[in-house]
Amino acid sequence: MPTYTAPLRDMRFVMFDLLEAEKELATLPRHVGIDRDTIDAVLEEAARFASTVVQPLNAVGDIEGCAIDADGNVRTPTGFADAYRRFGADGWPALSCDPAYGGQGLPVLINNRVYEMFNSANQAWLMYSGLSHSAYECLVEFGTDEQKRVYLPKLVSGQWSGTMCLTEAQCGTDLGLIRTRAEPVADDAHAGAPGAYSLTGTKIFISAGEHDCAENILHLVLARLPGAPAGTRGISLFLVPKFLPTADGGVGARNGIRAASLEHKMGIHGNATCVMNLDNARGWLIGEPHKGMPAMFVMMNSARLGVGMQSLGQAEMALQNAIAYARDRLQGRAAHGAQQPDRPADPILVHPDVRRMLLTGKAWTEGGRALATWVAQLTDRSRAHPDAAVRTEAEELIALLTPIVKASLTDLGHETCNLALQVFGGHGYIRESGMEQCVRDARINMIYEGTNGIQALDLLGRKVLHDRGARLGLLLGRVRDFAKAQAGEARMDEFVAPLATLLDEVARVSAEIGRDAAADPDVVGAAATPYLRLLTHLVYAWLWARMARLALDAPAPDAFLRGKLATARFYYAHLLPESAALLAAIRSGPQTLMSAEADGF
Ligand SMILES: Cc1cc2nc3c(=O)[nH]c(=O)nc-3n(C[C@H](O)[C@H](O)[C@H](O)COP(=O)(O)OP(=O)(O)OC[C@H]3O[C@@H](n4cnc5c(N)ncnc54)[C@H](O)[C@@H]3O)c2cc1C
Repeated sequence: MPTYTAPLRDMRFVMFDLLEAEKELATLPRHVGIDRDTIDAVLEEAARFASTVVQPLNAVGDIEGCAIDADGNVRTPTGFADAYRRFGADGWPALSCDPAYGGQGLPVLINNRVYEMFNSANQAWLMYSGLSHSAYECLVEFGTDEQKRVYLPKLVSGQWSGTMCLTEAQCGTDLGLIRTRAEPVADDAHAGAPGAYSLTGTKIFISAGEHDCAENILHLVLARLPGAPAGTRGISLFLVPKFLPTADGGVGARNGIRAASLEHKMGIHGNATCVMNLDNARGWLIGEPHKGMPAMFVMMNSARLGVGMQSLGQAEMALQNAIAYARDRLQGRAAHGAQQPDRPADPILVHPDVRRMLLTGKAWTEGGRALATWVAQLTDRSRAHPDAAVRTEAEELIALLTPIVKASLTDLGHETCNLALQVFGGHGYIRESGMEQCVRDARINMIYEGTNGIQALDLLGRKVLHDRGARLGLLLGRVRDFAKAQAGEARMDEFVAPLATLLDEVARVSAEIGRDAAADPDVVGAAATPYLRLLTHLVYAWLWARMARLALDAPAPDAFLRGKLATARFYYAHLLPESAALLAAIRSGPQTLMSAEADGF
């Protein structure tokens, strides 16, 4: 069975050396005084909880799965509900929440690494609370004072959990097709709070839609009011609790939302993916009528960053186990001469192809951690920096980077899990290794919260072209400043020269797409996916060059830092050259895609 040890050394390297977290936190009045010792203490406790409480349940959840009874009650796998209650009692859901609602007010920077650990340990289990935090963020921004008073402390404590109810059978990516109806209820003693609506419809694929972990479940449901405009302009967001809250904040009458069945699926068997029936269910508007999408986007953007953490966590766990296996498994001899002549064969780590797989996983995973941690740092800056201009700039960068975190961390995370399985050979295909579970579990992350194809369209269409490259300019400016600062550093040439070339190409090709898109509406759709990957390379190349510089500057680099430098060199030599192919694909335009006749597929 796989094991998991939290990569605390790398987390500290990224936070304190690469991103200078202590210096940054000192500029945020809300977080002044949060020092390295505090952060270390939280990370160490989270690491212990992840590997001793959560990880042992990962295989159990996969094998047992969930069960539903005739009344729609769902039983989660053995140990899940107990671990969830300990998670709440130990204060993990409260970590970065506002103290006004019972939170601990710690930086998102810490929360983000903690959630990476819990995802490494058991993604399916963490998903019982995963969307609670996104629901929390949505209610903080769009909830009424009363909704905040009743619901937020319960979400923060973990006593109640949250879901996101968007998808219907005929409506996935295109939310304008939603049919669930909401009608005002005139006078309803049963509802408990005024302003209730009655919701009717069926939602499918609802993660943690029903379970036995929390006392109550708050469903955030998209539905249409009578006479609503067609499409996404006519969608409203409702809060539909499983149990109606009592006046004193307790659990009251059962509401008309129930799980009808569980989906049978490829992975994350420990998480209940439910078909949810709403039958005259009581709900309350979040935000204004017909303006559900902006509120839902707050939830979705938070969830998209969370999905990136799911795959980063899975990839880290798979990679750790593959590295350990490659050190241990004896097959064949090193081409350059036997390394362990006293044994029947050498460990497979001597073979270049095995090294290629492991270094690819390491480049994607450690690069992904650096990116995710930077975005978490930007989130703290966007919320707590005293200067409004600094906050706005951080928000713009987060908007640009969110589709990259969601799509690239999940694509590259899945690639890493797959490579880790390959390192195990046939043993990777056998359940005991844990690698096949990881490949199955991590696969969904590329699909939900907006497929990765949709993330690419969001990046290129909304985030890059829509503001004529203003947000992109913020990113390019940072990369340019770094490259300039390395002038005269001959030892950085191997990184800075290709980085500067890529920087120029990204600027050029972005302008070309903008120009061509005006003439042909398919230009953006054709370029989007390779463009997202190209921009990912720019960000990773920049972060890897910065990590290489830290390793080069160390007076006596240890194995960890030497490994950083080796991985940076591997990334530049083996992975970054893909950017030339991506540029060619982008520049080929939509012609070859759109000229293929439908009958010819
Ligand atoms: C295990 C699991 C858990 C889930 N959890 C939740 C949940 O908690 N809440 C919830 O509401 N939903 C949930 N979902 C649903 C998930 O978000 C959707 O499956 C996803 O958004 C895609 O919708 P779809 O499956 O209908 O695919 P479709 O929208 O039919 O898309 C099919 C394909 O077409 C592509 N495509 C569609 N439209 C376009 C376009 N305009 N341009 C380019 N390409 C396009 C897509 O990228 C995709 O490759 C879950 C799904 C699963 C499997």
